[in-house]
Amino acid sequence: MVRKTNQDRRGKTNQDPIRKTNQDRIGKTKKYGKEIRKNSADSDHYAKKYKTIETKGVKKQAIPGQFCPVEKKCGGCQFLDVAYEEQLRWKQKKVEELLKPYCEVHKIKGMKQPFYYRNKVHAVFAHKRDGSIISGIYQEGTHDVVPVNECLLEDKKADEIIGTIRELLKSFKIKTYNEDTGYGLFRHALIRTAHKTGQIMVVLVLGSPILPSKNNFVKALLKAHPEITTIVLNVNGKKTSMVLGEKETVLYGKGYIEDELCGCRFRISAKSFYQINSLQTEALYQKAMELAKLTGKERVIDAYCGIGTIGMVAARYAGEVIGVELNQDAVRDAIRNAKMNNMKNIQFYQNDAGQFMVQMAEARERADVVFMDPPRTGSDEAFLSSAVRLSPKRIVYISCNPETQARDLDYLTKHGYRAEGAWPYDMFPFTVHCETICSLIKK
Ligand code: SAH
Repeated sequence: MVRKTNQDRRGKTNQDPIRKTNQDRIGKTKKYGKEIRKNSADSDHYAKKYKTIETKGVKKQAIPGQFCPVEKKCGGCQFLDVAYEEQLRWKQKKVEELLKPYCEVHKIKGMKQPFYYRNKVHAVFAHKRDGSIISGIYQEGTHDVVPVNECLLEDKKADEIIGTIRELLKSFKIKTYNEDTGYGLFRHALIRTAHKTGQIMVVLVLGSPILPSKNNFVKALLKAHPEITTIVLNVNGKKTSMVLGEKETVLYGKGYIEDELCGCRFRISAKSFYQINSLQTEALYQKAMELAKLTGKERVIDAYCGIGTIGMVAARYAGEVIGVELNQDAVRDAIRNAKMNNMKNIQFYQNDAGQFMVQMAEARERADVVFMDPPRTGSDEAFLSSAVRLSPKRIVYISCNPETQARDLDYLTKHGYRAEGAWPYDMFPFTVHCETICSLIKK
């Protein structure tokens, strides 16, 4: 079994782009490699190119306030000992190396306060030999849990709640789950916080369905943190590195939280993808809208739409929006979100985005603007070739991986599109990752 704790792997996944492996994503990546992706050689090329520029040339120094006791074991922050301005310079250079062959790269948009931005926090629980309970992350390549009590990137309140859960497990004498033997009960806690509304979701992940003294446990957790708005019990009995299992029961509240982005309200359930840095996401979406130049008449596709965030913001400025997304939970949230925002000009489809675009192209459907926001693996040829056939005036490509974005830009610019410019956004301070939005216009 793969067991990693690396933020390198962070990316866009429904399940958990948090310091650990996501087998869901690994599975999908393989599927792409075998079945769909035809241009993986190009991807390797970019990957190699990227490796050679890794963090070389970055000025490292001890910086007051930027210290983490588990930095080495966690591996989540590659830039703890790098000044924030220097991090931004490095990302700018990296994006330029990859995207400059296609278009101008504008100045990266950084954060004023680059700490505690993660609105989704995950902790795995374990017992130490002396019986005490720890929570944190898996050490890379092992089943060993590295204790993490606070993190410079994670929402502070979420870390406090995880601390309370540790104490409660002790006083309720609840055993933690042992990955190797399958004994024990409590596996993970997942906390999601909503930036605008302040709502907080706690997901308790167990190895089997019964939480002893369930009501008292919930009561005690709420007493310590009355700001929690919902508590969900998730059962994951499988020997897997995926955090969440299929089965879910709501123990308190609605079972989801709501947040606001660009004036729209969104419902977020335990499993659906939601950008982890809300502040930067808002800035990114605003740029996406500006680049789409919608006039109120356009037919828009929001591909890889997650819970429909981009599409819903666009629907206010477009004639009609069609969202497509693979994950069923996310699509369910998207449909509810559209209702909640009283939007009648948006529809969602659960499908592979590539297959969906093929069907659209074969049916000779029309699309004026395509937003695409694929996972780290980028898009695939089925998608790109059908997008070209659909021939929208504009494609707005948002990506959390400039390597695969460069590969896909290579395809699009050879098939009738001109890249107008690229705008990097630092969504993941202290990591090597960078989000970039690129605007393409039909030649
Ligand atoms: N646009 C959304 C989500 C982007 S993350 C937002 O800004 O929040 C990428 C999304 O692509 C995830 O929701 C993931 O489930 C979805 N996805 C991954 N592979 C896909 C595929 N082959 N077809 C459609 N959606 C896919």
